[in-house]
Amino acid sequence: MEAEHVAIEATDEPDRAAQPAPVQLHNAPAEYVRSLSRAYGNRRVVALLQRQPAATAPAIARGYKAVSLQDPRWQKVDDLLTWTQLGWEAREVMRTYAVPLAEAVAGGGAPAFYDAKGNVCYLNLSSSPGEISAYFVHEMHHAKQARTGNSPGAEGFPDTEEHRRKWVAMMVEEEVVGTAMGFEHKRRLENRGLADINDHPAGMSSYRRVYNLWRDKALAEGKDEVAAGAAGREKGLARVRLMIANPGGRASPELGPPGGVGESYEDFYAREFRRSPHPSAAP
Ligand SMILES: [Zn+2]
Repeated sequence: MEAEHVAIEATDEPDRAAQPAPVQLHNAPAEYVRSLSRAYGNRRVVALLQRQPAATAPAIARGYKAVSLQDPRWQKVDDLLTWTQLGWEAREVMRTYAVPLAEAVAGGGAPAFYDAKGNVCYLNLSSSPGEISAYFVHEMHHAKQARTGNSPGAEGFPDTEEHRRKWVAMMVEEEVVGTAMGFEHKRRLENRGLADINDHPAGMSSYRRVYNLWRDKALAEGKDEVAAGAAGREKGLARVRLMIANPGGRASPELGPPGGVGESYEDFYAREFRRSPHPSAAP
C-alpha cells in the first residue's frame, strides 16, 4: 500500500491549457491534489502543502501526556509490530516523521487517534497489545498520508459543495484503507499465535471471516498461497468499505469514528470540513 507522492511542478504558473481530468477520488487522493494544483495554481497548492509538515515541538492536546518509547506497555506493542510487514512499515512512518505518542492523563478514552495538525498519535494503552498494534498501523497510515501531502487538511480547500464532497470521500477512503491495514496486521498476529482471535479491533471478526472465505475459495480453485492471500485481502478491503459506508437515514454504519455514537465517518468529516476555515474561491 505504497502511497503515491505528490509531484508539484517548479513553476508558479498554473497550466491553464490543461483541462483537469475527471477525478477518480476513491483510489487517487494524489490525483485530486494534482487537479487542485492545475485549477488553482501551484503557488497556492505549494503553500497548502507547506502547512502540512509537523511543528517542531509536538502539540499534545490538553488532558493528554506523552508516552515514553521505553514505557513497558508500548514496548509490548512495538515488539508485535516487528512480526509483520505492515507493522514494520508503521514503525518506519513513526520514525521518519517523528510522530510522538500520547495518552489520556486520566487513562482510557478512544482506542486511537492521529492528529494530523499536531502530528501526534494518541493511544489508549489499556487494551491488549495486539489490538493497540492494529490501531497503530491504522493511525500511521493517516500519518503517512498527511505528512506526504496526500491528504491535505480541509483548510486548504475552497468552501464549495464539490470540494466538500471530494475531500470527505478522500478521508473516508483513507479510513477504509487504514482500517483494513490494521485488520490485516492483526490477522497475521493471530495466525502466528501472537494475539488472541477475537473481534478486536471492532470489525476484526468480519474481516477475518471474509478473508478466510475468499482465500479458501481461491485455494480450492487451484490458486497458490500468494494469489489466494491477495484475493482474501481484496475482499476483506471491500468488506471494510461496506462496514464504514454511510447507510443513510437514521441507520448507523457498522464502523464509525471513535466516540461517534452511531455517526458515520462521512458525517464526521463533513462536519470537520464545515467547521474548518477555507481559502477564498479561485481567481
Ligand atoms: Zn482512522
